[in-house]
Amino acid sequence: MTILPIIKHANEILRVTCEPIAAVTDQVRAFMDNMLDTMYDAPGIGLAAPQVGDMRRIVVLDCIRDAEEDEKQPMYFANPEITWVSEELAEYEEGCLSIPGIYENVTRPAECKVSFLNYDGDLAEMHCAGLLATCIQHEVDHLNGVLFIDHISRLKRGIAMKKYKKQQAETM
Ligand SMILES: [Zn+2]
Repeated sequence: MTILPIIKHANEILRVTCEPIAAVTDQVRAFMDNMLDTMYDAPGIGLAAPQVGDMRRIVVLDCIRDAEEDEKQPMYFANPEITWVSEELAEYEEGCLSIPGIYENVTRPAECKVSFLNYDGDLAEMHCAGLLATCIQHEVDHLNGVLFIDHISRLKRGIAMKKYKKQQAETM
């Protein structure tokens, strides 16, 4: 089990657009396993490669909160691409392992379709709804250098960032 250090806002690495991978190799799978260990350890329900300083388009998720060991449902996405979003919107309170302690309501499409390469390297497509739809959109945003705080009003972001900076200063 390898726990990778998580990169925090406002590190510029989190603002870089990540590159697609050519194929899901054993090396990629090992990295996905480390990402998952890191995510469960944090604990979190999603993690994108740039959050651990890797500029490849790779995401892991497990949207079952507080799952026991036998209920875990890890999901692996390489080169995920949102191919469709619903007109219907949904609001969830989001947080991010790279912006610890900050939680804000974000409105996104309620459902989406995502195409990706799975753990075996096969092309797959998934229809996502509920928390999973929010999670995958949040993680794909990371691959494009976008953070959930970019989706809230400038006023709310200002207040949240003031709180975040104060917290970060206190934990240093
Ligand atoms: Zn995040």
